[in-house]
Amino acid sequence: MKVARFHAPGDIRLEDAPEPTAQPGEVKIRVRACSTCGTDVKISKSGHFRIVPPRVMGHEIAGEVVEVGEGVTGWAPGDRVQVIAAIPCGKCPDCVAGHMTVCPNQVSMGYDFDGGFAEFMIVPAVVLAVDGLNRIPEGVSYAEASVAEPFACALNAQELVRVGDGDVVVVVGSGPIGCLHVRLARARGAARVFLVELSRTRLDLAAAIVTPDAAICSSETDPVEAVLALTDGRGADVIITAAASGAAQEDALRMVAPGGRISFFGGLPKDKPVISLDSNVVHYKELMIMGANGSSPDHNKRALALIADGSVPVDDLITHRLPLDQVLEGIGVVSRGEGIKVTIEP
Ligand SMILES: [Zn+2]
Ligand SMILES: [Zn+2]
Repeated sequence: MKVARFHAPGDIRLEDAPEPTAQPGEVKIRVRACSTCGTDVKISKSGHFRIVPPRVMGHEIAGEVVEVGEGVTGWAPGDRVQVIAAIPCGKCPDCVAGHMTVCPNQVSMGYDFDGGFAEFMIVPAVVLAVDGLNRIPEGVSYAEASVAEPFACALNAQELVRVGDGDVVVVVGSGPIGCLHVRLARARGAARVFLVELSRTRLDLAAAIVTPDAAICSSETDPVEAVLALTDGRGADVIITAAASGAAQEDALRMVAPGGRISFFGGLPKDKPVISLDSNVVHYKELMIMGANGSSPDHNKRALALIADGSVPVDDLITHRLPLDQVLEGIGVVSRGEGIKVTIEP
């Protein structure tokens, strides 16, 4: 079978590999859709400390069960499934307390296990152990289901900062995650959602699809002034920074309303993780600053349900569908910001 394997930064190879078979406790799937994201670009350029090459990449996975290993119950060939990306251990104090996204023993598809840029893939026993293989609801396509994983991460963040009825929400970054945040905020009852993005081209592309209440190009307009002007000087209730930008995080503190909540959704580059923050603003305005790290198996299930019931459509966010042998081209499209979601269909 054909797979796309990471060998070294800048060296991803499309190659032949023996078709895997399901060992006891495992499920084998035929991959039908595996979406690409910024993380794939990062891995392709700089690798990742947890990836020991060669490794099949791809972590936004949907497919069809073709073989069920000994001892596995509840699954049969033909079942349509979505696979979690981040795999918590399910046993540590954090997992037991229900905080699976911060499990210190977390492993991941495409990092510690071969991922979805392949014709066939093994769903490891550790995924099944935490109920991380999800049935795709009727009416949801494989491509849409592959977007459930990044969507689940957005869901985790918005639950943590309690986006809800009447909120004015600012989303910084108009990539696929930013677009999902805009739609999810609306579905959760936000009154108005503003989208901020540095690149005019990327902003226009995203704004045409998710139609935010205001689209602010931060290379042309000061986003802080723009948000204050749109809110009569009060600021927004929730700011979500879906961009790897310290400046965006610093701006968030300047555009947030009293009592507001900030989600540092996007992590910062490893060599630039420090920002400057006026702690008195946090103190006097009673602000909440929250992180967000991936998603739990349950977030994935609920993301699929929100796609299925039409609350958060994702089909029109998929701007590119490419066969497996064009996976490098797909990662290039993501890296150049020419599309929203690029889905590989092996
Ligand atoms: Zn991803
Ligand atoms: Zn754990």
